Amino acid sequence: MVIQLARAESPPLYRQSRSDDCQLQNQEAMKYDFHSHSTFSDGTLTPTQLLQRAADKRVDVLALTDHDNTDGLAEARMVAKENGVQLVNGVEVSASWRKRLLHIVGLGIDPENADLASGLAQVQCARLERAQRMGKDLERHGVEGAYEGAQEYCQEGLLSRTHFARFLIDRGYAKDMKQVFKRYLVNGKPGYVSTEWAALEDAVSWIKGAGGVAVIAHPARYKLTLTKMKEMLADFVDCGGEGIEVIGSGHNDDDIRLTAALATDYGLLASVGSDFHDPENGRRELGHVAALPEQCKPIWQHNALALQGAH
Ligand SMILES: [Zn+2]
Ligand SMILES: [Zn+2]
Repeated sequence: MVIQLARAESPPLYRQSRSDDCQLQNQEAMKYDFHSHSTFSDGTLTPTQLLQRAADKRVDVLALTDHDNTDGLAEARMVAKENGVQLVNGVEVSASWRKRLLHIVGLGIDPENADLASGLAQVQCARLERAQRMGKDLERHGVEGAYEGAQEYCQEGLLSRTHFARFLIDRGYAKDMKQVFKRYLVNGKPGYVSTEWAALEDAVSWIKGAGGVAVIAHPARYKLTLTKMKEMLADFVDCGGEGIEVIGSGHNDDDIRLTAALATDYGLLASVGSDFHDPENGRRELGHVAALPEQCKPIWQHNALALQGAH
């Protein structure tokens, strides 16, 4: 298996409107976004506000994929139809692979499934424990009241690093998200604690058991070497994973080309997701996703999503 990256010659994939750009498939009539967050995890919009914004941004099919939590789906479903948006039930499971944290998006899941629910409950416990330890570690480094402070930024969901980051910015410890994740909360810095998340094979099996399709979220964000990336994908496929975000948050044109090539090599369906969290972050806007490269097989052809096709 050989992956060739033609860096210089290839046209940028974001230039969607040029008709002579033969590397792109024609702009689909439908606008898909299979990765977004609400106040039920670390997003700032309620599911109702999220669906309204999706409609404003002319998204036809939206997956709500809160971290380790499906509790926002009921509200999202109630308002999806009136907004003319087709909702896909989703979740983003925090999983460990060789001591690294991976995000596995589950699409087309049944949130009532007992194994999925109990699996997510375990991850939620790990998340709560992590948050408490993060608060203690920040305190040791002179940041007082971070655990309680972060909770004020968390409406219904589970405490995450993003909530701590918002607290640290508002208290003047850093000027923006980028600076927070340089100075705090990452390996070797105050507020970092290592956590055992769901095992990769468990995360995939909960999603599949709940009738869904498991997708590797934003693969370029893990900073894996190509060798490690291939090992990870081989393990993911072995345990039943079927999709990969080719268009994912933080993916530049090179990442898109590489991920598209890997998707083809490993027989994975290609997903698109903005990873929307917050209207303030213009780079991750609902429906703001590049077109899939032509060689990709789109995730929306998977049965798990076709079955949820009706509103
Ligand atoms: Zn998040
Ligand atoms: Zn993620």
